[in-house]
Amino acid sequence: MISINSKLPSTGTSIFTVMSALANEHKAINLGQGFPDFPMDQQLAELTAKAIIDGHNQYAPMAGLLSLRESISTKILSLYKNAISPEDCITITPGGTYAIYTAFTTILQPGDEVIVFEPAYDSYIPNIIANGAVPVTIPLILPDYKIDWDLVSQSITKKTKAIIINSPHNPTGSVLSHEDMLSLQNILRDTNIFLISDEVYEHLIFDGKQHQSVLKYPELFSRSFICFSFGKVYNCTGWKQGYCIAPKEMMSEFRKVHQFNAFCSFTPTQVALAEHLKQENAYISLSGFMQQKRDLFVSLMKDSAFTMLNSYGSYFVCATYENISTISAMEFSVLMTKNYGVATIPVSAFYLHGNDDRVIRFCFAKKEETLTAAAEKLSAIKSIAS
Ligand code: GLN
Repeated sequence: MISINSKLPSTGTSIFTVMSALANEHKAINLGQGFPDFPMDQQLAELTAKAIIDGHNQYAPMAGLLSLRESISTKILSLYKNAISPEDCITITPGGTYAIYTAFTTILQPGDEVIVFEPAYDSYIPNIIANGAVPVTIPLILPDYKIDWDLVSQSITKKTKAIIINSPHNPTGSVLSHEDMLSLQNILRDTNIFLISDEVYEHLIFDGKQHQSVLKYPELFSRSFICFSFGKVYNCTGWKQGYCIAPKEMMSEFRKVHQFNAFCSFTPTQVALAEHLKQENAYISLSGFMQQKRDLFVSLMKDSAFTMLNSYGSYFVCATYENISTISAMEFSVLMTKNYGVATIPVSAFYLHGNDDRVIRFCFAKKEETLTAAAEKLSAIKSIAS
């Protein structure tokens, strides 16, 4: 048997795949993998169906339909006051995760170091390792998962090639403030360090907080790849449609990698999105809509034995179960799925070395009835013996 010298020897199957399969097997309510269980934006669905029927079914341009890139540029100017060239600085990608992988692959050489905050979305570290680079992890500080900027300064070496940030944050729902962005800007000034910014939850931000896009900070933008997702905006995560924004020279290198991977993204959705993106209300109303779901779920969990942590954005809210059990978060999540009928994600899965603070992640991007049924089951759990 011919064998592969694995690029990812320590990586198993993604926790989302594992927990969704377990949820299906045990018919558990799935608050694990982050996806809405309610219908996507119907107008966008209709526009896309029409684009297919109308015959927009061949390759799109490698960088994406210009009309869509123009719509994105207009949106960014209005939201973040930054004039981005649709021709040179925006590329449509098959999803936000693909955009992040492509950004890493564009810049990383073997031996480079990348600073990653943990818990970290599960694709970052394997992306770095697959490129022969080295993840340098920095823990976020509980309970609000804040960044210790002094530790960031101390972690920079001659080999640091990039830092990846993510706000609103998956899995914790923490968000970066204006002060955080200024600290980052000060640290990166006079360095050759790139910034990758995962902003897929840009419109899912609560309690009147403002999303601090890197696009609002020209000095930071000059060294950044910023990655976005349409799936999170229009409740269609299965579409795998996103885009990346970067300064011209950086984007030109990004496109060299992209053109020999996916080459281009699905055409019909691009035709539809070019039109639909002009409707501001569809994305402006999203934070209020999703905040209601967070509020509902948190209030339904009020009398449970879980301690809910703060979520200021994303699809997610975390909780500790320290009053219920001392078993590991992975064991706890498996047990909850199998015996208590609710699937969740153990936050320990988002650490390279599995640090376990006994925290689990719930996805609240669900119908009211799903949240109510899940909270009822969760509230009945008082104690689990180890
Ligand atoms: N982003 C989704 C989550 O965090 C999962 C995506 C995936 O399954 N790879 O749950």
